[in-house]
Amino acid sequence: MSESSIRLFLVPTPIGNLKDITLRAIETLRSVDVILAEDTRTSGMLLKHLEISKPLQSYHIFNEHKAVEKLVERMKKGEVFALVSDAGTPAISDPGFLLVREVISAGLEVQCLPGPTAFVPALVNSGLPNDRFVFEGFLPHKKGRKTRIDSLLEEIRTMIFYESPHRLMKTLEQLAEAFGPERQACVSRELSKLHEENVRGSLAELMDYYETNPLKGEIVLVVEGKPEIKETREEKQEKKQAAWKKNK
Ligand code: SAM
Repeated sequence: MSESSIRLFLVPTPIGNLKDITLRAIETLRSVDVILAEDTRTSGMLLKHLEISKPLQSYHIFNEHKAVEKLVERMKKGEVFALVSDAGTPAISDPGFLLVREVISAGLEVQCLPGPTAFVPALVNSGLPNDRFVFEGFLPHKKGRKTRIDSLLEEIRTMIFYESPHRLMKTLEQLAEAFGPERQACVSRELSKLHEENVRGSLAELMDYYETNPLKGEIVLVVEGKPEIKETREEKQEKKQAAWKKNK
């Protein structure tokens, strides 16, 4: 794929520390014809800081369905776009998926640049197994919330949730009820910012902690998967013998 055939770049932007913008992100934002932004004011400030002056067009969940068709038409005619969200990687719990899907199905090229996103540092900071994990994004607020939590009862992989500070306690309580209060977890708050905090412990310990400690800012909750019951050598041997006797 040559760079020149790409019509849409997804450009990750810092989640709290402006130094996390990549050189390629800056270069790409400088090179495109139009920048699509979730919030033109927020992105406008970042672009000003980077001394980039480009036409900005708003692209958010409320207009994305309507906007996609027109944008794809413009891309077909040769215009090159960058999509940015307020923070982090576009399309990760942010608008973008719809546009990516339609651009691909129109036979055009898309490229997402590597860069800031909240869930990767939260997962690694948690100290929980990260060889396999599941990204759950935001839990539904009301309808479907319990069904979603119940669908994770047998999940053995580490789970990652995005959460708002005022809903964290409720989420910790509901997860403790579903998975048991001893399940290990980590709350990553204000990642990459001055007051970054990673609090690790059981769901019960985290609830205790946030009873008395301020809960402000942006949050990622990482939760251990269901512990696998490991069979002892003796248990394995017994099973083998039982199977052998059955087949005799
Ligand atoms: N696109 C973003 C990404 O790549 O991570 C996510 C956008 S989503 C609308 C916003 C959520 O991401 C927040 O509610 C929080 O759960 C998480 N988040 C974003 N920045 C964060 C930070 N600095 N520290 C902790 N969590 C953060």
